[in-house]
Amino acid sequence: MAGFGTGPVADHELIEDCPTFGVFTLHKAGALEPGSTSTWRWPNGLVVVVCAGLGGITLLTGGSEQRIEIVRLRTRLGYQPLFVCSECKQKRAKVHERGGVWLCRICLGLEHASRHRNRWMTYSSVGRMLDLVERRSRSL
Ligand SMILES: [Zn+2]
Repeated sequence: MAGFGTGPVADHELIEDCPTFGVFTLHKAGALEPGSTSTWRWPNGLVVVVCAGLGGITLLTGGSEQRIEIVRLRTRLGYQPLFVCSECKQKRAKVHERGGVWLCRICLGLEHASRHRNRWMTYSSVGRMLDLVERRSRSL
């Protein structure tokens, strides 16, 4: 239940608060090359070892492991890798960690902080005013 002072974003966890793997980040780092192993650390202390194989990666997180399939879509510029979400089987550029499981943001019920902010700003003139006040006080 939302209590006093929790604000308009209390109903959903935000993507910004969850560790995230971007398929392009892994690709650029060479972490998707079959046979490669790389270690990734997040500010919240989470450490994940990524083992790449044919057609996917295995994420090793403190004793548990999860395989995530990766497909390559043909584009004008070559091939673009994408994760396949283990839950909904949709192709995703990013997967997020929550409760030890890596899934897409839809399956985890995550929302972007900016989406909430934009909605707030669109529908509330009070919000716009507050933003103006915030900007002014920052420039002082
Ligand atoms: Zn999903």
